[in-house]
Amino acid sequence: MSQPLILIIEDEASLRRFLVPTLANNDYQVLTAATGADGLAMARSHNPDIILLDLGLPDLEGGKVLQSLRQWSRKPILIISARNQEKDKVMALDLGADDYLTKPFGAEELLARIRVALRHATQTVLDTPVLQCGSLRLDLERREVTMDGVPVRLTPLEYRLLEALAQRAGKVATHAQLLNEVWGPVGAGQTHYLRIYMGTLRRKIEPDATRPRYLLTEPSIGYRLNVD
Ligand code: CA
Repeated sequence: MSQPLILIIEDEASLRRFLVPTLANNDYQVLTAATGADGLAMARSHNPDIILLDLGLPDLEGGKVLQSLRQWSRKPILIISARNQEKDKVMALDLGADDYLTKPFGAEELLARIRVALRHATQTVLDTPVLQCGSLRLDLERREVTMDGVPVRLTPLEYRLLEALAQRAGKVATHAQLLNEVWGPVGAGQTHYLRIYMGTLRRKIEPDATRPRYLLTEPSIGYRLNVD
């Protein structure tokens, strides 16, 4: 992909002034919109490869912009929002946003998230059925998990939870998404299932379960399989 096109929908001029040169210096083409209505119009006219969407816009709620985009576009959408908007972030992720960044964020974090989102966008799920991160190796075709080559025994539910995280490797999975994919309708609202099963998964996979390296908690939102 040559010079992916990024659309930034953000009303804060100071943040746009930071984002535009940061992205342009890293070989992205950049478009900006300061309102939800402009953002939707530009998304339709330019079909960007990725959209950075602020949830607090002056004219439309970010969630409305997202719903409108998702009616026709499957391109990655990264939410940018303030720290105290956990509920809004979860709502946006459940509505189909790919990931989120909490303000203030640094250039490195932003660029890393954009790379992950663009990589996912060009794949069906993963390029290969094998995911290697650090010592952890996960073969989704053979349903095998190893740490430094040593097989890890997982129960079917533990495996399904790890698989759901791996299918979004590097991106956040919300509580609702994980509960639905692992437990189905009976999982709705049962966030404690996740706490219990993430606990046992961490004890089996993490070198130090109290300081997870692979299975990261996103407070109030969900979990992320760290691929760095
Ligand atoms: Ca704003």
